[in-house]
Amino acid sequence: MILPVVKYGDPVLITKAEKVEEITDEIRELVANMFETMYASEGIGLAAQQVGELKMVAVVDPSVGEDPEAKVVLINPEITEESEEVEPFQEGCLSFPEIRFDVVRPAGITVKALNMDGEEMEYKVDEIMARVFQHEIDHLNGIVFIDHLKGMAKQMIKTRIKNMKRKGEWDL
Ligand code: ZN
Repeated sequence: MILPVVKYGDPVLITKAEKVEEITDEIRELVANMFETMYASEGIGLAAQQVGELKMVAVVDPSVGEDPEAKVVLINPEITEESEEVEPFQEGCLSFPEIRFDVVRPAGITVKALNMDGEEMEYKVDEIMARVFQHEIDHLNGIVFIDHLKGMAKQMIKTRIKNMKRKGEWDL
């Protein structure tokens, strides 16, 4: 089932999610719905907060449904290592329609997370995967990508969002 995507302004997006204690049918259904919702919006990552659920669950697929092996479900993910090297990369977010900008983040990371069988997995990722993982793990901790901007840059984005809201272009 395709779920409505929560837009920035909803407090759920700035609230830390709760850890998943057990992979129940409810979690399996949530994950299936999150993939469906993400593909419908042509996204490559989606966190549970973005469909209004405060659970530590994120789905990632940089192939946008083309390659079944590219699908990753991150449950209770935690970054355990970050490269010293950082790089800028243009990011977008389904909760911020049409907003894109460069975010500087570590180029490579190691992440521990449970998979759908409740097994602890370790992912060493770089490039696009490192980018999406960090963006989604931020979401689960109540952090959105504009939180990485400072000063004028953040103000400019906020003004743009305010204008879009006024014109009714935000919650569509
Ligand atoms: Zn996002």
